[in-house]
Amino acid sequence: MSESTALLRTADHVVCATCAVEYGREPLPDVCVICADERQWVPRSGQAWTTVGRLLEAGHRTVVEELEPGLLGIGTEPSVGIGQIGKLVVTDHGNVLFDVPGLIDDDAVDAIASRGRLAAIVASHPHMYGVQSLYSRVFADAPILVARADASFLPLRAPAVRLWDEAHEIVPDVHLEQIGGHFPGSTVALVTGVDGQGVLLAGDGIFPGPEGRTVSFLRSYPNRIPLSAAVVRRIADQVERLEFERLYNNFRGVVPEGAGEVVERSAQRYIEWVSGEHDDLT
Ligand SMILES: [Zn+2]
Repeated sequence: MSESTALLRTADHVVCATCAVEYGREPLPDVCVICADERQWVPRSGQAWTTVGRLLEAGHRTVVEELEPGLLGIGTEPSVGIGQIGKLVVTDHGNVLFDVPGLIDDDAVDAIASRGRLAAIVASHPHMYGVQSLYSRVFADAPILVARADASFLPLRAPAVRLWDEAHEIVPDVHLEQIGGHFPGSTVALVTGVDGQGVLLAGDGIFPGPEGRTVSFLRSYPNRIPLSAAVVRRIADQVERLEFERLYNNFRGVVPEGAGEVVERSAQRYIEWVSGEHDDLT
């Protein structure tokens, strides 16, 4: 079966209209498990579903761009669901799709196929499951790695899903580990860039501010729910062991240089504020 033939079968694939995480087909729950959680939201007008076919008919499409050599961004325009920019890590040993858009089309398939074998698909956290089963199906049932700690948020368990716990290398130069925080299984990928420097794909476990001069940490971004000082210290200590120069989140956020130091400095600032050290300034 050619890739485009596989794609033709995706039109009736159901996704949540708000977060664009896939459910596949009926029966559907009363409300999306992702959106009902306190980290997201359900529209006042109520739960709504759509399909990949309807999104394509409405003019949504994927947009592929090179973020840096060996790293592609795959977004959607107009934005679908949460609007993440998926990342394709290209290596000599196979490629990894990290965070999956809620849409698939010929442009995305062609872009991925032209870069070589897709070795695995992994989401940084449940908001980023997107239509991962469709990408897997198109690319020879590539394994879909799902953090076991968050598996209760996985609406569609495709046969290619593999639950995982322990830090490991997916392919040489792409190391995965769970840092927790935003979700218990929140995952980062440490990639060796084409220039030999470390690149951290952080989902929204670590979130760059404007111009990538600082980062922050939250349990919920839409609802502005913070994490504790202890959790942010734990995350900063864990990623300190990973050597990286640049950091990308799951949107357009990037820390273009000195990212390891930026994370440590920002964690320290965060901890001071949530611990009341600067309450005299408020
Ligand atoms: Zn949803």
